[in-house]
Amino acid sequence: VYILAIESSCDETAAAVVKNGREVLSNVISSQIALHTLYGGVVPEIASRKHIEKINQVIEAALLEAGMSLKDMDAIGVTYGPGLVGALLVGVAEAKALAYGAKKPLVGVHHIEGHISANFIEHPDLLPPFLCLIVSGGHTHLVIVKDYGEFEILGRTRDDAAGEAFDKVARAVGLGYPGGPKIDKAAKEGNPNAIKFPRAKVDGNIYDFSFSGLKSAVLNHINHANMMGEEIHVPDLTASFQNAVVDVLVSHTIEAAKEHGFQKIAIAGGVASNSALREEMKKACNKAGFTFYYPSPIYCTDNAAMIGAAAYYEYINGARAGLDLNAIPNLKLGER
Ligand code: ATP
Ligand code: MG
Ligand code: FE
Repeated sequence: VYILAIESSCDETAAAVVKNGREVLSNVISSQIALHTLYGGVVPEIASRKHIEKINQVIEAALLEAGMSLKDMDAIGVTYGPGLVGALLVGVAEAKALAYGAKKPLVGVHHIEGHISANFIEHPDLLPPFLCLIVSGGHTHLVIVKDYGEFEILGRTRDDAAGEAFDKVARAVGLGYPGGPKIDKAAKEGNPNAIKFPRAKVDGNIYDFSFSGLKSAVLNHINHANMMGEEIHVPDLTASFQNAVVDVLVSHTIEAAKEHGFQKIAIAGGVASNSALREEMKKACNKAGFTFYYPSPIYCTDNAAMIGAAAYYEYINGARAGLDLNAIPNLKLGER
């Protein structure tokens, strides 16, 4: 089964051809990062317009790279939520037009299901059920992947997403957008124990996360230093912040795996490419005797290959979208 997958939920215009959900024949990504850097974050209106400009050539490139044409596809998969509504609509409209024109089945894909499915691409041995930590720009979810397309959310962030915290802290120390990769790099030169930042405790669900307190602590630290006329040591500060985030992510995940009896742990989303998170999760999994799965960085941040992987399992389960498929900016995981 060959799927042409399209992703345009945020600031990446992407298309891919994926065979049987696990084999990537092409993965084309046109990133708008340079465009949005100027504004310190994604500007929705600019994102939509850029998607419109790029989407046709990105799809053509994906088919060309796979050495296939639209008529060779068995279905077209597209992200229809969650994300920026104007951005999503470009991909959805394009996918509907292609499906109608080429008389191909259409499959609507949840963006976060896509992030999770990125793990299937390089790990043929990874089958549900398993536990997955999703850490992206807009989500921080600890999820039981019960089966393909079947999820139980154990915990989620109460406030900022992990990636959002990275981006905000990066902005505060002048590293610019997107902050995650810049903090990752700066932190390599720093001492992760230099500054004691709080590990957020939340009432109620022990698997929930909170990052706004940590973010405030970092901002307070910076303001205090500025007031005292002290230099901020960016490597130490970023390493200490990153350490606090990673600490909470890893401990929650390991505790949940033990409590719910999972031996297989996966991570997904842009922050899953963070080197400290990968390192610490690997260590913790080794210690606990768990198998740890993580996608290559290119499959962690937004891409269409992961959408093709998710679309395949939806497709073989019989999921079909009509030509009335609409963008749903706040689509919940597991909803249709
Ligand atoms: P969502 O998937 O929740 O809709 P999104 O698509 O914008 O949000 P992703 O593309 O999955 O998010 O990830 C982008 C986020 O990942 C950004 O917040 C970015 O800073 C963060 N990120 C990317 N690389 C790293 C890294 N090496 N370390 C930490 N964070 C990172
Ligand atoms: Mg992005
Ligand atoms: Fe994403």
